[in-house]
Amino acid sequence: MGVKAEVLPLDTDCHHFVLENNWTNLEEPYGSIFLSIPTILDSSLAPEGRHILHIFTTSSMDDWKGLSRIEYEAKKQVVADEIISRLEKKLFPGLKSAIDFIEVGTPKTHRRYLARDEGTYGPMPRSIPKGLLGMPFNTTSIDGLYCVGDSCFPGQGVIAVAFSGVMCAHRVAADIGKPELSHSIAGNCLQVERLEKKSPVLDAMLLRLLGWFRTLA
Ligand SMILES: Cc1cc2nc3c(=O)[nH]c(=O)nc-3n(C[C@H](O)[C@H](O)[C@H](O)COP(=O)(O)OP(=O)(O)OC[C@H]3O[C@@H](n4cnc5c(N)ncnc54)[C@H](O)[C@@H]3O)c2cc1C
Repeated sequence: MGVKAEVLPLDTDCHHFVLENNWTNLEEPYGSIFLSIPTILDSSLAPEGRHILHIFTTSSMDDWKGLSRIEYEAKKQVVADEIISRLEKKLFPGLKSAIDFIEVGTPKTHRRYLARDEGTYGPMPRSIPKGLLGMPFNTTSIDGLYCVGDSCFPGQGVIAVAFSGVMCAHRVAADIGKPELSHSIAGNCLQVERLEKKSPVLDAMLLRLLGWFRTLA
């Protein structure tokens, strides 16, 4: 949401977690609310005098199935209104009337625009999680096809995804025989680069060793 800045007290923190009901609602759908206000840290993200509120809660695809377009839009409004009034009570009185812009997403939105299976929050494993090492690294069984992002090691979150990108760029640079390309990507790749430049055999062995570690995960 985009809101007028005056609705937030001056000492408002960036991150909030709202759980009104003594933990009993923690894992219930819509039970807890996660709120981040990035403009507290970087005011240039919004027009002057405005803040961005990024709010989310838990829900499942089942709760949004079988609705007509009109019912779907109406339900989005009901859920959003409920969350806003909870935030008004707990944190920011007058929030509703301070809203300039609002966009509501659901598990269906995640499925449609992010291609997330069942509209999940992130890359949920289909079976029992194998831990981080069980996730794909950047290479695939198809030569020259790489993968990157939060479905790969080291997983979910903006920082992890950025790291996955650096790792992948380095892998590609090494594979096409231009390790110097990754100089511009990250200085800390230097040691690995030297190793690869010196010894493609050792590099291939390292990859195989990593693959073996992953079978243990
Ligand atoms: C509600 C929510 C809150 C979050 N909060 C945080 C947070 O506070 N901090 C944090 O660090 N992380 C947070 N995350 C996690 C973080 O946003 C993700 O881990 C990260 O954005 C994943 O990046 P990605 O590039 O792997 O995938 P995405 O950001 O999902 O990008 C994948 C892109 O590929 C496109 N795509 C999919 N299929 C196709 C196709 N067939 N053809 C073309 N394009 C396609 C999608 O449209 C999308 O743009 C949050 C995630 C969610 C859903």
